[in-house]
Amino acid sequence: MNVPSEHLLQLKNELPAGVTLVAVSKFQPLQAILEAYGAGQRLLGESRAQELKSKQAQLPADIQWHFIGHLQLNKVKLIAPYVALIQSIDSYRLLEEVNRQAQKNGRIIACLLQLHLAREESKFGFTPQACREMLASGRWKELTHIHLQGVMGMATNSEDSELIRSEFCSLHNFFLQVKQEFFPGDASFSICSMGMSDDYPIAIAAGSNMVRIGSKIFGNR
Ligand SMILES: *Cc1c(COP(=O)(O)O)cnc(C)c1O
Repeated sequence: MNVPSEHLLQLKNELPAGVTLVAVSKFQPLQAILEAYGAGQRLLGESRAQELKSKQAQLPADIQWHFIGHLQLNKVKLIAPYVALIQSIDSYRLLEEVNRQAQKNGRIIACLLQLHLAREESKFGFTPQACREMLASGRWKELTHIHLQGVMGMATNSEDSELIRSEFCSLHNFFLQVKQEFFPGDASFSICSMGMSDDYPIAIAAGSNMVRIGSKIFGNR
């Protein structure tokens, strides 16, 4: 049997101050999420819009939901009324659509830019170059209902910890460069979200300040 509350408390003890824990509850039943909630967890991550919508409607209103999966343009409206942070912005068109839906809901939605670092082609995200070009165009500054707060990325799913380390280090460097170049004096561009159950210690050593952990808390999906 899984004991989310116990795993959660262990993890919280282990994480350095300044590293925010997002408990990834995708594919987990409401009961398991309520147990984590009971242990004090308020920050949860989901990767499917329809699943998030259904869970959000049934679970306590003070949960802050982060969206971490690939988000299709036509699904943005399902999460725009309540999502706290969309970590997986992987195109300018998606950013525009989030802006549009946020405006409709009278909200400003916080967003992270997802970078593609891993060797796997299956993963989504901007290449560093495409991300830079998007920021350099300056068009995003006209989007008044989104708030860019940092970057997110996943390392290659591999046993090679040196490869993982180098991917996380390059994302962290990219974060620092982009922050300096495009967000000078903007203290809220501050999130470098990297690290999952199997690689979060490496991510934290490389500069992560937000980890997204699922199976280590809830057990296998
Ligand atoms: C599923 C998922 C996680 C959590 O993965 P675990 O290995 O269960 O910790 C983190 N980030 C993203 C983007 C995910 O899709």
